[in-house]
Amino acid sequence: MIKTKGLVKVYRTDEVETTALNEVDVEIKQGEFVSIMGPSGCGKSTLLNILGLIDNPSGGEYHFLDHEVSNYSERQRSNLRKNNIGFIFQSFNLIDELTVFENVELPLIYTKVGSKERKERVDEVLEKMNMMHRRNHFPQQLSGGQQQRVAVARAIVNNPKLILADEPTGNLDSSNGDDVMKTLVHLNQEGATILMVTHSQYCAEFGNRIIRMLDGQVVTENVVQQYL
Ligand code: ADP
Ligand code: ADP
Repeated sequence: MIKTKGLVKVYRTDEVETTALNEVDVEIKQGEFVSIMGPSGCGKSTLLNILGLIDNPSGGEYHFLDHEVSNYSERQRSNLRKNNIGFIFQSFNLIDELTVFENVELPLIYTKVGSKERKERVDEVLEKMNMMHRRNHFPQQLSGGQQQRVAVARAIVNNPKLILADEPTGNLDSSNGDDVMKTLVHLNQEGATILMVTHSQYCAEFGNRIIRMLDGQVVTENVVQQYL
């Protein structure tokens, strides 16, 4: 599903150049649940943004599904992204002015799904995430755990092949964090490929493989014990 070769990302601000990714090779097969770990500033979010087609690399190759996307335009990336990728963030990133229903509906509007089908699919994922009773609430009226359940509903409403999660449990207590991890495991069992950045070894081990980064490079890759 994902294969990079010599991926490089250099950020240029004024006179300063930062090499955030320095020749990264990663391969992720369909159906995997891969965790990415490493200290702050080592390039995890940069890698997730490039693999998630939010940003382009400065160099190297990126094969996503059957496309070589490293030189794609913003429009090409956006088309591929909105049909194939769901994002989950540490800070939930819900839109405060929209209700729970409207937040989850957005990806379906972007992909031009009709209103009747939108309603069916939003209600189906809200049911799945046990949030139907908060359908017409606004994000600020929800607990953190509830907001993340809405964010997960929004990420999966388009049935994405790939789910990218950036510290999805970072703002949650351990009980709500566990619920999110169990949901990710369940989505993986249903067929979604998952790539998750985490600082937590405990969370990382819900996946089948852990990639460790340091200073813009992949330093080790391990299969999680129970998958050996
Ligand atoms: P991590 O997610 O592992 O904390 P990041 O990918 O956010 O690491 O950052 C990697 C490096 O790139 C850091 O040195 C960071 O300061 C730098 N960086 C990230 N984003 C930008 C940006 N938009 N402009 C300039 N430098 C950036
Ligand atoms: P938690 O203990 O999980 O953090 P909260 O104390 O935030 O949960 O909320 C408890 C319940 O009250 C939740 O079901 C939440 O939806 C509801 N709730 C919290 N704040 C509001 C609010 N401002 N308006 C409506 N319902 C709210």
